[in-house]
Amino acid sequence: MNSNKKGLNTICTHVGELEDKQHRGAISPLYMSTSYAYEEVNVKRYPRYFNTPNQIGLCKKIAALEHTEAALIFSSGMAAVSTALMAFLKAGDHIVLQQTLYGGTYNLVNEEFTKYGIEYSFTNGWKAADFESQIQENTKVIYIETPSNPLLTITDLEAVVAIAKKHSILTMIDNTFASPVNQNPIDFGIDVVIHSATKYMGGHSDISAGAVASSEENMNRIFQLAKNLGGNLSDYTVWLLERSMKTMGIRVRAQNENAMEMANFLTNNSDIEKVYYPGLPSHEDHKIAKKQMKGFGGMLSFELNSKLDASKFQKALKLIKPSMSLAGVESTVLSPTKTSHALMSPEVRAEQGIADGLIRFSVGIEEVEDLKEDILQAINAIKQ
Ligand SMILES: *Cc1c(COP(=O)(O)O)cnc(C)c1O
Repeated sequence: MNSNKKGLNTICTHVGELEDKQHRGAISPLYMSTSYAYEEVNVKRYPRYFNTPNQIGLCKKIAALEHTEAALIFSSGMAAVSTALMAFLKAGDHIVLQQTLYGGTYNLVNEEFTKYGIEYSFTNGWKAADFESQIQENTKVIYIETPSNPLLTITDLEAVVAIAKKHSILTMIDNTFASPVNQNPIDFGIDVVIHSATKYMGGHSDISAGAVASSEENMNRIFQLAKNLGGNLSDYTVWLLERSMKTMGIRVRAQNENAMEMANFLTNNSDIEKVYYPGLPSHEDHKIAKKQMKGFGGMLSFELNSKLDASKFQKALKLIKPSMSLAGVESTVLSPTKTSHALMSPEVRAEQGIADGLIRFSVGIEEVEDLKEDILQAINAIKQ
């Protein structure tokens, strides 16, 4: 089934599935072959050409989910990010990137770009004007991340796209935190959409993968570089990812619901200083989130009262696990000052609003009452 016109869960379950003509099994057969006949066929298949049967099937599903003509899947989110960026940048070009970026992307830019003669600027905020003020004559790409990590700021996609179009600049977004369930940036004029499929697409904390979705023309350009860099995903993992994505719609919608409930619960708790969740009417960018998101996502952050120790709090949790990654069906927490933002000076962290008591919460699909109880018991345990 290849129609892009179906609803979310139908796309998740069926689009791009391969037919088992030999045995009529219910699921896509897995083709592990790295070697295919080349005479008397049009397609020269090879895993690093991103065109094995399972790769092509899954790419159709991702393209349908992101409302694009085409997509490619990679071995990690960073393989997707780096290949997409390098496909559109060459020596002498300039890129404007949002200030609050995923750490891996920030490192890619800071550690590698100068070597290739690519100039870059970071914005001083996430408003459209913050992007515009960094544009130079040689700016070729604007790179956005919304909702952002860890404070869940929301960048106005339409407003940034309008500025980019005025200057004929390509726009790219890291759509990982929202997932295609909650946000389709193409509908707001964004050119290239990137995902760490390690997160919501995989959803079970057991797959490393990435994806890029865009027009045929843009994807062809990205493919020309991708086949040379070689960041393709193994077909077995492609097949596993297809299986995971069948439930992405129901998983993420359940996570949206739990996160909204937890955000309200935390807001009403006097031991919590602040809650950052785009679904809360009190969130600074709530109106923009409402305009461009179909759900507010499963990620939120909260700041513990300064009398409570974030490390002790995390250790006292029994059900929710402190963990480096995010977006699994299991709830996890992370302390940005100890992990993703550990290398930043305390001054810069304070400037960006990242307090020592800040906890990033990836809300899972557990019963929400059990999550509330775990947080309450942990707070009570560390107060004693
Ligand atoms: C995890 C993540 C990435 C990188 O993905 P990997 O699969 O770890 O390479 C990129 N962007 C965001 C927002 C992420 O959370």
